[in-house]
Amino acid sequence: MHAACLFLWAGCNGTHRMSPATARLVCFSLFGALLAASGCYKVPVTGRAAVNMVSDEAVIQKSEEAFADMKKKYPVTRNRAYQDRVQRIGERLAKVAFWDVAAANWEFVVFEAPDQINAFAMAGGKVGVFTGLFKIVHNDDQLASVLAHEIAHVAAKHVNERLSQAMAIQGGGLIVSGVMSTTGAGALTSNAVLEAYGLSTGIGATGFDRKKEKEADHIGLIYMARAGYNPEEAPKVIENLEQANAGRATPPAFLSTHPSYPERILQMIDLMPKALEVYRQGGQKQVPQLVK
Ligand SMILES: [Zn+2]
Repeated sequence: MHAACLFLWAGCNGTHRMSPATARLVCFSLFGALLAASGCYKVPVTGRAAVNMVSDEAVIQKSEEAFADMKKKYPVTRNRAYQDRVQRIGERLAKVAFWDVAAANWEFVVFEAPDQINAFAMAGGKVGVFTGLFKIVHNDDQLASVLAHEIAHVAAKHVNERLSQAMAIQGGGLIVSGVMSTTGAGALTSNAVLEAYGLSTGIGATGFDRKKEKEADHIGLIYMARAGYNPEEAPKVIENLEQANAGRATPPAFLSTHPSYPERILQMIDLMPKALEVYRQGGQKQVPQLVK
């Protein structure tokens, strides 16, 4: 499956280098359709070939339902300053993720939950921040790094991948490419979607496996830089998180599927020259206008 995904993308990338803009568009549309039909997609920024056996529309629909449930479960904050900050930073990030998060109807909500150092983003552009997060983010760049990380999970379709893996296991390997892509929303339960988001966890406990968390860190670092936020503030958030969680039992990295704090920071340091280059280029040069 992965080899097939790579092959398709190699074909498209090979052609587009020689083509004018329109041909490039046609190429990407054609290969996009082919990729969707074969259950593959290319993760933005990292370029990883990933498997997507679930319908994007179904995931978006279920995510919107799950977000509506979150709004019933947690009170929306009355802190105007928090809400405005998240909205302003979130919108800047949404612009740079424009091409990577299809069919997004962005919504940024701050939930009143001082005990939860947490944030999340869902397919369809639904972003939630718990007020506890403000304990570990001390400036706009730091808040941007958390939001960028969460939006990166959506852009990378990590939930689709997780659901695809779950379906493949449930189907005993009978799933062939493309079949599940046409499955309607009914095939996905809200619970399965919520579980796939790992919503009881988040940036504190990390909701995905270590590979996906590190990928979200990577993409997030580039997104924040593109949006004009200083990527050097991102590792500081991990340090703040580590301090906030000091004393709580955290399993060592090798025992856990989640990357350890030092592992996340080291990756960010590795990626920093590239992120700073993007940041210094002024980021938002190629930002499209959002059309309502
Ligand atoms: Zn994450």
